[in-house]
Amino acid sequence: MYQPADIHRAADQLRTVRTEWAALLIAVETPPAAAWPPAQLSTHLAQQQAAEADLLVADRAPLTLRQHPAPANLTALDAAVRVEGLLFDLADTLAAAAQRPIGRRLVSSVGRPEVWADDEADAADPRRWRFRSPTDPGSRRHGLHFAALWVEGRLLDEDTEPERHLDGSEAPALFARLPEHLRHETIRVARQCERLVLRVLELDERETPVEGRPCPWCGGALTLHTAADQAPRVTCDGGSGCSAAVPLDNRGRRVWGAVDLLTLIEALNEAVAVRAA
Ligand SMILES: [Zn+2]
Repeated sequence: MYQPADIHRAADQLRTVRTEWAALLIAVETPPAAAWPPAQLSTHLAQQQAAEADLLVADRAPLTLRQHPAPANLTALDAAVRVEGLLFDLADTLAAAAQRPIGRRLVSSVGRPEVWADDEADAADPRRWRFRSPTDPGSRRHGLHFAALWVEGRLLDEDTEPERHLDGSEAPALFARLPEHLRHETIRVARQCERLVLRVLELDERETPVEGRPCPWCGGALTLHTAADQAPRVTCDGGSGCSAAVPLDNRGRRVWGAVDLLTLIEALNEAVAVRAA
């Protein structure tokens, strides 16, 4: 049996996959191995800028349905296509097991035989996962965000109670609660997807020394810190003697967080330009 904590951790992992998805798509289009700034910072900043410019809506289209004539970063593309495939296939599996079949409606009882058809309103319910066919991508057309949200809904047992209509009639629940083995599968896939996304973005927990670029304020060594669910940070080992106008962290190091990173990158770029001049 799974504990609520397992379920919520998996839901958080699915959320991380959704929130980092834009960064992953940016990474696909960005050549790897730029020496500075490190990819973690540049995708983070690009993501911030894109969010500000509201450009992310276009990224909803699924990768598998898009053309990638010349992806700049094949590792990132591989990871993204894999994550998308894992979540789409999982949604297919969960829908096959737990989604109520589309209701049937008597269209005509005149003569024999009676004519029955799919209930169109039920079929069009936006909460449904639609399977793909050779000519139609089904719910996959809505991309990763929708699939991840949909899977999260099943994991959290959403819409598993019978529905009472305004006229007092009752319809069976749209979804059944997941059987234990599918809960297990969902938790496993959520963890796998999060790991794939964070690893390719190098946002899994790690500390990377910033080579060849000392702190512009005190000459101390800089370290880039990344971890799941956190924006990247850079710290300076110059301690409180460092005159940079940013806060100290709990270990007494100057730390550049989300909004200050751009200032740090600019200062470092300037320092390099001055040295080169
Ligand atoms: Zn410093």
